Amino acid sequence: MKKYWPPVMMLVIFETVAVTLWLTKNNIFYLFNFSYIGLSISLGVFLYIKEYKHARRFVQLLVGLYMLIYLGIISRENMQIEGFWYYLFTGVFEAATIHYAVAKIFGPLLFGRGWCGYACWTAMVLDFLPYKVPEKPRKKIGWIRYITFAISLVFVAALFLAKVGNIERIMFWAFIVGNILYYAIGVILAFAFKDNRAFCKYICPITVFLKPMSYFSLLRIKCDKDKCISCGKCKRVCPMNVDVTDNSRKRENGTECILCMECVRNCPKDAL
Ligand code: SF4
Ligand code: SF4
Ligand code: SF4
Repeated sequence: MKKYWPPVMMLVIFETVAVTLWLTKNNIFYLFNFSYIGLSISLGVFLYIKEYKHARRFVQLLVGLYMLIYLGIISRENMQIEGFWYYLFTGVFEAATIHYAVAKIFGPLLFGRGWCGYACWTAMVLDFLPYKVPEKPRKKIGWIRYITFAISLVFVAALFLAKVGNIERIMFWAFIVGNILYYAIGVILAFAFKDNRAFCKYICPITVFLKPMSYFSLLRIKCDKDKCISCGKCKRVCPMNVDVTDNSRKRENGTECILCMECVRNCPKDAL
C-alpha cells in the first residue's frame, strides 16, 4: 500500500489548498478548481504507479484543457503572465495571482517544475510534436526569456500608466492572441531546433519564476550511485538535457527538470 501514498498525499495537499481558499475567499469556485486539479494529478500519479504509459499526457490534457478552455476562454480569466501582472497591479489576490502563487512561485519549492510536465497548456500541444527527445545540442539563447518577461510586464504597466479603459477586455484578447503566438512560435522552434521543448528552454517568460524556485525543490530525481552503471541512457531520453546522474542542485540544467519521469522509466538498473 506504501506505493499509493504519493497520489493520496497529492490529493490531500490540493484539497487543503481548495478548502482553505474556499473558506478564506468565501468563493466555492476555489473548492471546485483545486479539487479538480488535485484529483487529475492524483489520478495521473496513480496511473503512473500502475505503469500506464500515457499517464503524464493524460494529466496534461485533463488540467491543460480545463485551464485553457474553461478558465481562459469560457470564464475569461487571463492565466498567462499578463494576467498575473494585471491582478498584481490591481492588488487583487484572485485567479491568476493565486494560480501563479500555487503553481509557479511557491509550489515549485515543493514539486519543482511539475507544472511544466503535467499541467501547462502550451506544452500540452508541443508534446504532441515529433521531437520528444532533442535531436540537436542545446543553444545558448536562454536569455530570450528575460526579454519576453520584460515585454509582458511593460505591456501591462503601460496599460495602467496610460489609464486605458476596459483593461479586462484587453486582458481577454491578450490571452487569446498570446496563446496563438506561443503555439505558433513553439511549433516553429520545435521543428527548427528539432526539439519539442525549445519554447520552454529559450522563450517562455514564466521560467524566470520557475527556474530559481525549482532550484530548492523538495521533490527531485536522484541517482543511486551504487546501482548506476553510467550507461548514459537517462541523459539520452531527457527532453530537458538534465544531467540527472549528478545529485547536486547545481547539476547541468537542473532547474529545467519537468519531472516527466522518462529517465526513471528508462534506467535499466532502477538507479533513479
Ligand atoms: S516552460 Fe513555460 S511553456 Fe514550457 S511547460 Fe513550463 S510554463 Fe509551459
Ligand atoms: S540510465 Fe540509470 S544506470 Fe544508466 S546512467 Fe542513468 S542512472 Fe545510471
Ligand atoms: S527525463 Fe528525468 S531529468 Fe529529464 S526532465 Fe524528465 S524527470 Fe527530469
